[in-house]
Amino acid sequence: MPTRTQKPPPPWTPHEIIEVLDAFYGRHPARPSGAPMVELVLTLLSQHTSDHNSGRAFHRLLERFPEWDAVAAAPTAEVEDAIRPGGLAPTKAPRLQELIRAVRERMPGYDLSLLETMPLAEAKAWLRALPGVGPKTAACVLLFALGRPALPVDTHVDRVSRRLGLVPAKASTDQAHDILEAQVAPEDIYAYHVDLIQHGRRTCAARVPLCAACPLLPRCPRAGLPPLDTSVAGR
Ligand code: SF4
Repeated sequence: MPTRTQKPPPPWTPHEIIEVLDAFYGRHPARPSGAPMVELVLTLLSQHTSDHNSGRAFHRLLERFPEWDAVAAAPTAEVEDAIRPGGLAPTKAPRLQELIRAVRERMPGYDLSLLETMPLAEAKAWLRALPGVGPKTAACVLLFALGRPALPVDTHVDRVSRRLGLVPAKASTDQAHDILEAQVAPEDIYAYHVDLIQHGRRTCAARVPLCAACPLLPRCPRAGLPPLDTSVAGR
């Protein structure tokens, strides 16, 4: 512990965080799917549910409607029925149809490959002009489908980044996207996203973070949390 005259150690840089968490949890290599339209629909279906449930909803949707045009043209009640395992179906079904119709209007063949070569800011703006698409969904499409360096900030990435002192307390989650992207090197974006989700789920939990067991503890400012009881940490 630093004494009163000692300066606290500098907070971890994003690259150091990745190195520490990769060593702790193991590294997950990026494997972009190359399917931005699929990623767009999956991201909408995954809101407020588990990957397992949204995956089931997605497969049922494709079984019932093998073409995006068919989803757009179907009675909303049928779409709702198809995606029911993903939860919030009455809300998601009309949103999904509206989203698919908006893509068709701008890109009749649903081919979103232009997002691969467009300047990153333009690609984000293109996606965010679609109904219901915010910074997180846009980043998911660009990162997971096309391997572009856009950082999706979900609840875990947001919380852990704030505790580590990388996002100011007053910044909104939307602002956190830009704040973090300015600090994380493009080649580190995927690892940062995956590592922080893993860390948020397994160690830096929302209500009771397991700081005594955390490999980042030595230089974590633990922003917003009460001082750590080191008598517990040392046990
Ligand atoms: S020391 Fe605690 S607050 Fe900091 S990253 Fe680890 S678990 Fe989270």
